[in-house]
Formats: sequence, structure tokens, C-alpha cells
Amino acid sequence: MDLMIEAVIYGITALFVMGTLVVYIRKGQKASDEVRAKVKTAKELGMHEPISLHPYINLSSCMGSGACIRACPEKDILGILDGKATIINATSCIGHGACFLACPTEAISLRIGTESRGVELPHVMPNYESNVSGIFIAGELGGMGLIKNATEQGIQSIEGITRFLSTVPKNDTDCDVLIVGSGPAGIAAALRAKEVGLTVRIVDQESLGGTVFTFPRQKVVMTKPMNIPGYGKVHLLNTSKKELLVIWEEALRRMQISVEEGKRIVGIAKEGSSFQSEVVGGERISSRSVLLAIGRRGTPRKLGVPGEELSKVTYKLIEPELYQGLDILVVGGGDSAVESALLLAGDNRVSLSYRQGALARIKPDNRTRIDSAIENGKITMLFHSQVLEISGTEVKLSTNEGERFLANDQVFIFVGGELPNAFLKETGIEVTTHFGKTVKKHTK
Ligand SMILES: Cc1cc2nc3c(=O)[nH]c(=O)nc-3n(C[C@H](O)[C@H](O)[C@H](O)COP(=O)(O)OP(=O)(O)OC[C@H]3O[C@@H](n4cnc5c(N)ncnc54)[C@H](O)[C@@H]3O)c2cc1C
Repeated sequence: MDLMIEAVIYGITALFVMGTLVVYIRKGQKASDEVRAKVKTAKELGMHEPISLHPYINLSSCMGSGACIRACPEKDILGILDGKATIINATSCIGHGACFLACPTEAISLRIGTESRGVELPHVMPNYESNVSGIFIAGELGGMGLIKNATEQGIQSIEGITRFLSTVPKNDTDCDVLIVGSGPAGIAAALRAKEVGLTVRIVDQESLGGTVFTFPRQKVVMTKPMNIPGYGKVHLLNTSKKELLVIWEEALRRMQISVEEGKRIVGIAKEGSSFQSEVVGGERISSRSVLLAIGRRGTPRKLGVPGEELSKVTYKLIEPELYQGLDILVVGGGDSAVESALLLAGDNRVSLSYRQGALARIKPDNRTRIDSAIENGKITMLFHSQVLEISGTEVKLSTNEGERFLANDQVFIFVGGELPNAFLKETGIEVTTHFGKTVKKHTK
């Protein structure tokens, strides 16, 4: 009798264990299937290959704890597939490196480029000088992103520049150092340069703050405590774009530096022992050295049509809530154009102009939303159309049905960008393609 009871207990326990195991395995399989589908979509959309610093997973030491996924501040960069971590939307990886630190088995290293997609990076020496003597590079352009890293590099690059300047004659240039780019790297460098007594000018094709300026107002900006020259130590962890911009503006004000916004440098030539940098429009700035802190996001491509210089034409949408009751034209057929049109629709009369006949390369989620916005009349889709001219109150477009005029208050253009590599090569800076170069790994 006792044996019978024992057998029944063992049987029930075994059934319970097996049942739990089956549920657990099924759950794992379902989660893996979801990740597999996300990887497939990311590949179709060209989002699977990383463009810069990204995690590389050593599958033999990964135990699939998921710690890397929980640590990553961005969404769907990593997932668990068949019990191991895998990369999904690597293109969106910002290079926080939180996954690298979180992995309990040290299975993650950080790499630049992959075997199939090389990433071009300029040649930079430990003192931040490029192969062109007197031209220095700091910040994300050199391959390492994030606000704190860019800030530190900006500060450190001034040490190299100061040493370089001590070897070249003093001459009557506009400044000792011209800083190109006013993101975290450029700002920190300008502040440090002034602190050590150099004369400095800082220009930006867009606005003070660089990429940070383009963040949405509500974005949580993750960073670490850092030293801002002329301001002091700032203890920021999860902050906002506004808080950072206020700090930078205050530091620049205290050091009496003004960022020359809206100045794009298109060429740098060495003349004797100084540099002549050419600004779009013809201005020339002479300097004894140059620091390139231009990031890696490039320059938005322009349409090259009359009226594009009007102040109502812009290449980014930062605060959609500021636009209401307007006639708006969004130009482009990628995710940026579609997402902007969707953000503006509702409160405005929005038209989306695209020169092709279909929105072929957008995220599935965006496709569903844009199809429904077009169907509901919230967005007017203008396929096979091209902007010919922009005036104060109208835009002229060519369409398959002939020329068309639209009432217009605001134009947003999202037709891609030019990466900085061509500019670097023209300046004589060597650019090397990296196919999976490890830049950070655990050392035993
Ligand atoms: C969506 C997104 C979210 C992010 N979130 C975070 C985060 O939470 N935390 C974090 O630490 N990092 C984050 N980052 C990364 C961070 O923004 C960058 O690593 C950092 O801004 C790099 O600083 P930088 O000074 O090197 O270059 P940038 O900030 O890119 O600044 C470069 C500047 O140079 C200008 N420039 C370029 N070419 C020229 C030219 N020819 N002439 C004149 N000016 C020129 C550009 O217009 C730009 O203003 C994020 C990035 C993105 C895209």
C-alpha cells in the first residue's frame, strides 16, 4: 500500500516537472520565434547590420541570461534566440556598452564593423591628431560615441593641440584652433581651449548641441557624471536635452565663447603653417590648427531647388507640437519622412511628396499607420512627385499629371544625408574600413 502511494506521489511529481518543462520550453520557443521574426524584418529593412560600435556575442560563453537585454537602454537591439543572445536591430545601437558590462559570463565584446559590412573610420593617433599634421579629431567621428566619451575626448584633444601649437610659429591667423562641430566634443574642446589660453572659434552647420540638439524634447538622455571645463563637475545620469543645453550655454557664456551656427565647412587647405577653412557661401577662416568634431551623422541632403534657403524649410522635426493649423509638405519616402508626416498629421494639412511610386523601405509599423492616415484623409500622398520651387506661400511640384501648386507654410525634407567620409578624404585624412574590429573586451 505504502509502495502504491509512493509510486503515485512520484508519478504526480514527474508529471508536474514534465508539465512545467513543456510549458517552459514552449514559452522559450515562442519567444525565440518572435525574435526570429524580428531579425528577419530587421534584415529586410536593412536594420540588422550595425553602423558603428555594437555588441558582438561569443555564443560559446553566452548562457542566455537576458541581462544584456535588460541593461540596454534602447529597444529591440538584442533578443534571446534559441537560448543565446542575438542582435536584432543593430543599426539603432548607440554604443552605450551597457550590455558589455551587464553580461554575467563576459560573453560580449564591443566591435566596429562586421565581416560583411565595413565601417570607415578616420586615422586618429593617441594624441587625437590625424595623419594630416595639425588636424585633430575628437568625438564620435573617431568611432566612439556617447556624450561623456565625446566630452572627454574634446578635452583631451586640446592637450595634443597645445603641444602641436608649441612646435609651429605664431602667425596672424583668425585663431589658434578652429573647432568644426558644436556637439559634446566640440563644446568641451572649445571650453578647454579657452581655459588653457588658446584663441578659439567654433562653427556648426546646424545648432549648438550637435546630435543632442536633434533629440526629441521628451527623450531621456542617459549619461554619466562628467567634467565640463569652465563649469565644473556635472552629476547627470538620466537627464533631458534641455538640461544639457542649458549647462553648455551657461559654460560657453561664462567662457565668452559664441558658437557660430549655420556655418558648414566644406574644405580645409593647408597654406604654409596655417589652415584655411572654407565655409559654404565663401567665408574663409584661418587657424593654426583644426579640430574636427563633426560626429558621424553627416549632412542632410538638399533638394537644390529655388526657395530652399527660406527659413520655413527644414531638415529635421524636433517639436511637432509647435506646428498647428498649417499647410505642410514633407518630402521623402523613408521612415524619417513617414514618421514626421504622421506626427504632424491631425493638427495640420499634411502632404507627403515622394518621387517613387511606392513606400518600399519603411518599417511595417509605419506602413500600417501611413496607409491608414492616407485612407482617412489625414495625409495626402503624392507619389511620382518632385519639388520644383518653394515660395513664401506655395510649393510647385512636378507630378505625372503635370505641374501642381500647393498652399504651403512649412517644408520638411528627409531625403538622406552625405556621410563625412568624402569630406575627410578630400581633406587628406586617411580613412580605413574596419570589418569587425574589437574595441572593447574583457581581460581575464
Ligand atoms: C537617437 C539618438 C539617441 C542617442 N541617445 C544618447 C544617450 O541617451 N546618451 C548618450 O550618451 N548618447 C546618445 N546618443 C549618441 C550621442 O548623441 C553622440 O554620441 C554624441 O552627440 C556625439 O558627439 P560629437 O560631439 O562627437 O558629435 P555630434 O553630437 O554628432 O555633433 C557634431 C556636429 O558637427 C556638425 N557638423 C558636421 N559636419 C559639419 C561641417 N562640415 N561643418 C560644420 N559643422 C558640421 C553637425 O551638424 C553636428 O552639430 C544618441 C544618438 C542618437 C542618434
